[in-house]
Parts: sequence; C-alpha cells; structure tokens
Amino acid sequence: MKIAFRKLSSQPLHFEVNRDNALFSGDLILKKSNLAQLNGTITGSISIPCDICAEEVEKPLDEEVVFYLSDGIFEGSDQELDVVEIDQSMIDMEELFQSEIELIKSDYYCCANCEGTSLDREF
Ligand SMILES: [Zn+2]
Repeated sequence: MKIAFRKLSSQPLHFEVNRDNALFSGDLILKKSNLAQLNGTITGSISIPCDICAEEVEKPLDEEVVFYLSDGIFEGSDQELDVVEIDQSMIDMEELFQSEIELIKSDYYCCANCEGTSLDREF
C-alpha cells in the first residue's frame, strides 16, 4: 500500500496494512504543507525468537504508534518530533510497518518458559 503525500489533508485518511498475523491500521492527517501525523496501532501477533532459548514464539501485539512524516527533508525546528522523511512524495506503508516490526523485534523478549526459569533463579 502506497499513499501519495499530496492526497493527505486535514481530514484523516484511514490505512490498513497486513503482514503475517499482524495488522497496522490508523490515520494519516496533514498538519502542515509537508508534514503529516500518523496515528496508528499495531495489533495481532508476530513470530519472535526468545532471547534466551531462541525458540520462535507468537508474541501478541498491542502497540500505539505515533510519528510524523515529512515530504522530503524535514526542516522544522522541533527536535522533539519523531519524524520520518519520505522519498518521492510516496508513503510506503509496508516499509513503515516493516521498520516498526523490526523495532518491536529488537526489544528484549523472552518466552513464557524462560520467564519462569529466570524467576526461579532470582528467588
Ligand atoms: Zn525461551
């Protein structure tokens, strides 16, 4: 799913992207001429390896995702904003979804079995 930046307006534009068992959905709203806000949620589940035993486990997802999209180089002064610069005025939703998934996968994760074992060791 690709969305042309020029199609965005102050009216929320709904999007939905599926990948395996995960769903990325939400709205895109134009804030300024070249800056849009993405308000989304990632639900469903992803297959993720446990950091301890490396077993692939289905991890349920319920993530709120909010960031900004800039058409070209972002020249705003607000350093607090989480801005993704997009190329050629096309927003590639699959690519955005993919990078969000990678972010979730890079977090520490251990499966239910290993959670039990580490607790046993602590106490
Ligand atoms: Zn494990």
